[in-house]
Amino acid sequence: MRQQQAAFDLDVFECAFPDPEQILALGGSALRAAVDTGVVAFATMVGTSAERVHSRLVRTVRISKTTVPDDLDRQEMLRILRTWRTDPSTYRPPVALRRPHRPEGIGQLPAPRVIKPAHLHVDCGLCCDAVKAGDLMGRFRQPKDLSFTAMGWLCGHCLYARRETPRRRDILLRIYHHLFAGSATGFNAYECEVLETWLAEPALTNTTAWRTDPLENTLARLRDSVEEQKATTWVADPTCRTIVSVLAHTDLTPQEKSLLRSVDQHLTEWRTNPQGLETRRFGTGLRYRVEVLRTTPNPTELSKRGGPFDLHQSPAPAPEDDDEAPAPDDQADS
Ligand SMILES: [Zn+2]
Repeated sequence: MRQQQAAFDLDVFECAFPDPEQILALGGSALRAAVDTGVVAFATMVGTSAERVHSRLVRTVRISKTTVPDDLDRQEMLRILRTWRTDPSTYRPPVALRRPHRPEGIGQLPAPRVIKPAHLHVDCGLCCDAVKAGDLMGRFRQPKDLSFTAMGWLCGHCLYARRETPRRRDILLRIYHHLFAGSATGFNAYECEVLETWLAEPALTNTTAWRTDPLENTLARLRDSVEEQKATTWVADPTCRTIVSVLAHTDLTPQEKSLLRSVDQHLTEWRTNPQGLETRRFGTGLRYRVEVLRTTPNPTELSKRGGPFDLHQSPAPAPEDDDEAPAPDDQADS
């Protein structure tokens, strides 16, 4: 019976290997089974053993022995199998990668757990930008704080540069994920500079949001942060909501407009509970926000990705006149 089932699955795979959209929709045991069947189908196709194909697959997706692959890793395994199947000449051992420059100081992000060239086109799991086949992508380690969700495959900018050379969209994403997690938003000096410049348009002081909750003090704090190159400046939750409302009145690129609209939609839904979720069951905190987002009547790129994500805070700089060596934990990749 099992053999019959396996033969059926193999037939299906030989006729129609899951396409990129179908791969994204797979998870759990169905995804594990698809990888196993895909390995057997490809081994049969090229006349080698399934063990050999599986071993090369694990090395190509760069899963270390100590890492348990999650659904997003396994989806990438299927994309690799799909690439090999489409063009068997690409079934080669993975080549060593040159690690990109990693910023230092307050612009630094943790070292990624894995980097690899994309086998097929994917969208960045944080900013949604296209990652074309051959472009660098990677993933961070699972967050230690279990209230955060693991991020998917990210583009090179989101892996390395987003804290040193932040775009305006990075600021919006940071505010969104902090509000989602239920905390104030921490900006480093580079992010403060981008936000300060964005908010400095004179016409914005006439918006209803600004008149109700003036941002002059916040702007002054952002300027101080830039001048002092501060690692982190915390901006309170209500002020961040005002900032989101005010920024909607600025000149926006189509990407910024779409992201800001999605952020605004989810902030509104968390406030109004349009699905009528029972607070008795979900409370009013993080579980409630996760559930409202998961069941939103109008899915967006943000709701598809879930969260909240830990977008990283800069470690505090070492005290200048302290000769003591830092503790080993402070030297580790944070
Ligand atoms: Zn990105």
